Amino acid sequence: MEIIRSISVMQKIKRKYPHLNIGFVPTMGYLHAGHLSLVKQAKKENDILIMSIFVNPLQFGPGEDFDTYPRDEKRDSSLAEEAGVDYLFYPDVNEMYPNDIVIEMKMKDRIDVLCGASRPGHFDGVITVLTKLFHIIQPTKAYFGLKDAQQLAVIDSLITDLNFPITLIGVSTKREADGLAMSSRNVYLSDQERQEAKSLYEALNLATELINDGILESRTIIAKVKEYLMTHTTGKIDYVSLLSYPNLKHVEKIDQQVIIAVAVYFKRARLIDNIIVNEQGKIIESFRQGG
Ligand code: AMP
Repeated sequence: MEIIRSISVMQKIKRKYPHLNIGFVPTMGYLHAGHLSLVKQAKKENDILIMSIFVNPLQFGPGEDFDTYPRDEKRDSSLAEEAGVDYLFYPDVNEMYPNDIVIEMKMKDRIDVLCGASRPGHFDGVITVLTKLFHIIQPTKAYFGLKDAQQLAVIDSLITDLNFPITLIGVSTKREADGLAMSSRNVYLSDQERQEAKSLYEALNLATELINDGILESRTIIAKVKEYLMTHTTGKIDYVSLLSYPNLKHVEKIDQQVIIAVAVYFKRARLIDNIIVNEQGKIIESFRQGG
């Protein structure tokens, strides 16, 4: 595996392989098995695998954890190499943003709900950095986790609206043994919070059970999920939402593909999780758009 820190070198490498399928897994590092499941799938479906690690300042708001976001280059590069990454693109902030940016990208839909509602500007930062990364790497397929389902919906519109010739692949959420969705931010949890954190997934399972029992009204499902979270965690609920997916509109009942998403604030970490359910009430484990 080669580690590449310069945009121009990365572009030169990409030009060496005009006829090969390039799989791309963008991350912010501090890799865990969730990231590596994206790598595993990308490895199967492409000739060359490029991962990027870049903690993108544009997507962190004031007071968020940009400075303290966990970073460990040595560990990450050996995990990436073991997983079969061919090129690890590892630019620093000056390389990606050498000057003040002149063009501002702004999402106007799919961001007034879920994490977008409490993180203004976050997804504008995400689409800006991904536009740069997509131009630099020009992948055939790009892989993202369904865990960050709003991000996937936002990237779905980025790729469609701006005609990126990229197939977007959503990969199912990798979980700890007790169901907690893996996340680089789980290291912020205290022991007690770590115990409680599994209740996000349990609350979503409760929603699945309700749906399987034929309960399809959003209001009822949301109320039961909230009640479960309130009685099983000391965290503060940020949201429990049921929306159409991927266009993220409020729906009264499950009569189309929907997402049921939860976010809970613990002392130092805000955890998110979700399930996506189709109109027949079946859980969706993958997503694909384009290509
Ligand atoms: P991050 O480094 O947190 O920006 O995540 C990089 C990519 O890994 C994103 O596409 C995430 O959605 C994905 N990812 C993060 N956690 C998981 C997980 N537990 N399972 C699957 N994919 C994940």
